[in-house]
This record gives sequence, C-alpha cells and structure tokens, in this order.
Amino acid sequence: MTVRFAPELHFLLAPRNRGADVRAAHDPAASLGHVVQSLGVPLTEVGALRVDGRTVPDSHRPAPGATVEVAAVDRPQRLPFPHPRFLLDVHLGTLARRLRLLGVDTAYDNDRDDDVLARQAADEQRVLLTRDRGLLCRRLVPAGGYVRADRTDAQLREVLERFAPPLAPWTRCTACNGPLAPASAADVAADVEPGTRAGYDSFARCADCGRVYWPGAHHDRLERIVRDAESWVAAAR
Ligand SMILES: [Zn+2]
Repeated sequence: MTVRFAPELHFLLAPRNRGADVRAAHDPAASLGHVVQSLGVPLTEVGALRVDGRTVPDSHRPAPGATVEVAAVDRPQRLPFPHPRFLLDVHLGTLARRLRLLGVDTAYDNDRDDDVLARQAADEQRVLLTRDRGLLCRRLVPAGGYVRADRTDAQLREVLERFAPPLAPWTRCTACNGPLAPASAADVAADVEPGTRAGYDSFARCADCGRVYWPGAHHDRLERIVRDAESWVAAAR
C-alpha cells in the first residue's frame, strides 16, 4: 500500500519517509488509523482520509495495493464539542498562563501523568495539547493538538491559528483558570500593599483561589500579547 501524507504532516514522519510516498506493508488486520499512527502521525492531526480517491473512516481496512491520501486537519479546526476548552500537558505551563490571560478555558497541572491527562480530556471534553505523540494516539483522547513550536510566543500563535477560539482577555486567573470578578480598592485592602493600592483603582479577584489582579508593571507587555493574539485569531477565522 502507498500512503501519501499532506506536506504539513511530513515533520511527524521518520526522516526517510519525508517528501515521498510511503510504502506500508499490507496487514489485513490493521485499520487505516492504525497504519497512519504507526507511521508517526497521530489521528488528532489528520483531516480527511481517502483511499483510491474515496473518503473513508479511520476504521477502514485498505486492500493491498491501495493508494491512501492523508490530509491535515482543517484550520480553523472544528471541534467535536461546542466550547473550545483545552488541557495542557506538564511541559506547557507558560502556554497555559498565556491562554488563560486571553480568557481561554485552560486546565493545567504540573504533576499529571499520561493516564490522568487522557482521562481528564475525555471526562471534561477538552482538547489535549502536548508534544507527546504517544499520548495523542490514545483512543480515549477526544481531540488533541501536537504543539510544534518551542517558544511560547510561537506556540500561542500556532494554537490560536489552528483552533481560533473565542477570546475574553482579562477574565481568567492565570494561576488557576478561575473566573475573575471586579473588586474595589476596599475589597482588596487586606491583600495588596497600601502603596500599590494608591496607584490603581481597578482590581479583580479570582473567584476560585482569591488571587488579586491589577494593571501592574507588566501591563504594557501583557496588553501587547493580547493585541497580537486578537489579530491572529481574527486572521485565522
Ligand atoms: Zn485563581
């Protein structure tokens, strides 16, 4: 059987398979989804599958000599649940904080193993973002995304352009993902130094962990991140 991957998926293939049709041995017991994943490409990254020009499900068992075409997911990607929500693996903590800054519902914890992550993604209907292909290949994972970039800025852009989630900047706690509610200077008097309080009149408090937010020293940098993010999502839609 011959398998032809879309160019966007070539980086996931073994180097010897990049840039050309991949020959795969015929195994009557193997589904097409299994063949594709065994070549290194998780089905979370795959769009339409065609065998000899006909669209087929990943459970299809190709005949010997078939030619298979594997497309990348559409961008922006449609999700199997109504509200784009994410779950990030333990290596993506900085990206998690950025997504929360933008108001995107993002679960993250720095000590979850693969079993727990896959189960949580299924239970809470979240898109699992990771750089672990084995994790993305698990049956339980309802939707996922392989994060290709190394730097947080590039990772954020990659995720926003792929999923184009609705943004609601400054509405979520970057530490715990809880919702923020407006708070007065008097409300936060016990948590914020008097000198800090004097300079600001706009505060917010996390309803879940109680952390207090105000436009502090990093505000210009964060506003730039928000502006960039909004322009990426607008362009991706
Ligand atoms: Zn919080």
